[in-house]
Amino acid sequence: MPDEAPKNAPQSAADAAIVETDGFQLVIDALKLNGIDTIFGLPGIPITDLMRRLQAAGMRVVSFRHEQNAGYAASIAGYLTRKPGICLTVSAPGFLNGLASLAHATTNCFPMILISGSSEREIVDLQQGDYEEMDQLAIAKPVAKAAFRVLHAEDIGVGVARAIRAALSGRPGGVYLDLPAKLFPQTMEAAAGKASLIEVVDPAPRQIPAPEAVKRALDLMRSAKKPLIILGKGAAYAQADADVRALVERTGIPYLPMSMAKGLLPDTHAQCASAARSFVLPEADVVMLVGARLNWLLSHGKGKTWGGKGAKAWGGQKFVQVDISPQEADSNVRIDAPVVGDIGSCARALLAGIDASWPQPPAEWLGAIAERKDKNVAKMAETLAKNPSPMSFHSALNVVRDVVKANPDAILVNEGANALDFTRSIVDMYKPRKRIDVGTWGIMGIGMGYCVAAAVVTGQQVIAVEGDSAFGFSGMETETICRYDLPVCVVIMNNNGVYRGDEKNPTGGKDPSPLVFVKDARYEKLMEAFGGVGVHAKTPDELRRAMEEAVRTRRPTLINAVIDEAGGTESGRITSLNPAAKKKS
Ligand code: ADP
Ligand code: MG
Repeated sequence: MPDEAPKNAPQSAADAAIVETDGFQLVIDALKLNGIDTIFGLPGIPITDLMRRLQAAGMRVVSFRHEQNAGYAASIAGYLTRKPGICLTVSAPGFLNGLASLAHATTNCFPMILISGSSEREIVDLQQGDYEEMDQLAIAKPVAKAAFRVLHAEDIGVGVARAIRAALSGRPGGVYLDLPAKLFPQTMEAAAGKASLIEVVDPAPRQIPAPEAVKRALDLMRSAKKPLIILGKGAAYAQADADVRALVERTGIPYLPMSMAKGLLPDTHAQCASAARSFVLPEADVVMLVGARLNWLLSHGKGKTWGGKGAKAWGGQKFVQVDISPQEADSNVRIDAPVVGDIGSCARALLAGIDASWPQPPAEWLGAIAERKDKNVAKMAETLAKNPSPMSFHSALNVVRDVVKANPDAILVNEGANALDFTRSIVDMYKPRKRIDVGTWGIMGIGMGYCVAAAVVTGQQVIAVEGDSAFGFSGMETETICRYDLPVCVVIMNNNGVYRGDEKNPTGGKDPSPLVFVKDARYEKLMEAFGGVGVHAKTPDELRRAMEEAVRTRRPTLINAVIDEAGGTESGRITSLNPAAKKKS
């Protein structure tokens, strides 16, 4: 039964027999029936009452300052919980603001549902100029895994069920659900309304890999002289942590975690080859991808990174690819042994074929990797031990590294250019799904939305390492963090600009370079403005004290870590993608 009395509850005994429900209530009931307990969004016409009533019905409703941040929050909530993250927006402009996050969810394979109110269909379709007129469904389609519109109250149950199934099943993704303003006040008999709702049975069904595909993969792995496993965020998402770990440990094969797969096994694991990445990629002869795509983040499996003789040449590796999407294999290079299924089922099927007779990788291969690792780790330790003034990315991140090590349950949010690349390589992760970052697109703007979602859905401490530029995209949500009193500690690596802060206007004119910001900006005052804690940290000691205090008190905190403005490099580690920097180098 609905949790609150519908608007048009019976007024007299005479009509008590026909209890009615309405569109608002049916949307709420459909979501609750399917275990949705948290909504991210921003109120306004026509969904203001929906947000009120969602809260009144016992949902956690988190209201943001900009829909893009609410959407990014929903997308990462989906990743962290394996339930679709819900973002609720108003029509046209609010919908468009949320659209970036819908595309982001689809690209990253995160389950999310963007629900937007929309204007009157008849007026929109005749283009008669309605309030916030826009054909939202058509616009959402190309960036969504699926998109649906519900016109009648009795179809709300089906609409919500289809959205949930589309978001979660197979390769997860972003789904759009269009709810026209006229839908919400529609009434129907409560009993019929209840009967029209669908509790989705098995929304993310297991997909068992074919035995012959498993055998093909095992045969190939067994034949390898220099095997390598690459773990991606699909493996982290699957929450099959023990099986993935067993697969790595029982085969004895060295592994590389992709950025968000860091911590699936602790980065300090003996088989982790991260510190020897540029050695193992070109040297490996058989590579098993587990929930990782051979996209730009892995140089498309080709070229010099992989030991190829030219920019696009094949390096000679053979590939096994474990993935839930049957279409992923061969997207960049030949996949010799695709294993299609969910990661948990695939890992278990592979494990069933790995017994005591499984040959451990040749000692030569493991020895060569260990040697590279030791050398690089020692070199890094030397750099981290330096204490320059102003701080470098390294001396600041050395502190973050220690604080994360002491708080392995904390969730690390990370975005920026240099702030991203350095953090990824310096800060070790110890547990699964503790690192959330810019993802497949390498986008800026996920920062504060991710912080809010991570704190809300996990209850854990959140630590965000943000470039000063990256922070700017979502900085106003510091108010949201304070309003909900979330345990979020934001550390801004402030080097006064994009990439670095010392660029000049070449004309000598009054305007600054487009790549720099106000010098010595006091970002910490933003958190103070909303009642949180702000700290201006100029040394590693100040940074350490502030971070430890933030974690101890769990208060909303923003630490403005002052970094040498000449410290960064253009485009961080992806300089090769920047045509200008490429020309210069
Ligand atoms: P990364 O960026 O870490 O390499 P990607 O997002 O490129 O990760 O790849 C994730 C892959 O994982 C996608 O190809 C997706 O189809 C796959 N995937 C997502 N969820 C599952 C799952 N539950 N089981 C198997 N594969 C999955
Ligand atoms: Mg910067």
